[in-house]
Amino acid sequence: MHELSLAEAINNTIQTLCARSSWTRVRHVVLKVGRMRQIDPELLSFAFSVAGKGTVAEDAELSVIELPVVFKCNVCGERTTGESMIFVCLNCGSTNVDLLSGMELTIEYIEVESRVN
Ligand SMILES: [Zn+2]
Repeated sequence: MHELSLAEAINNTIQTLCARSSWTRVRHVVLKVGRMRQIDPELLSFAFSVAGKGTVAEDAELSVIELPVVFKCNVCGERTTGESMIFVCLNCGSTNVDLLSGMELTIEYIEVESRVN
């Protein structure tokens, strides 16, 4: 289940950010994930809540923005948006294509509470 290792990696990143800043609690984490990553958002959300137990990210909400797979044909220049992992130009049938989107895996933003001095 690669959602679990991903959730742990996200949690580790958040811990590092919180340690550097004076964030005391994480409320909401928004991720951008390309469909090529084949991540199940519900499973990831669950894994994230497990990984966050006892940390500043405990009870934080995780949202996933899924980005489509988009590729551009190097022969005819047509752009194709696909749900599948088959990279064939719908216009000319060429497999000579470049991936434009779909491999994203980034933290878009984090909502936090910080220490008030
Ligand atoms: Zn083409």
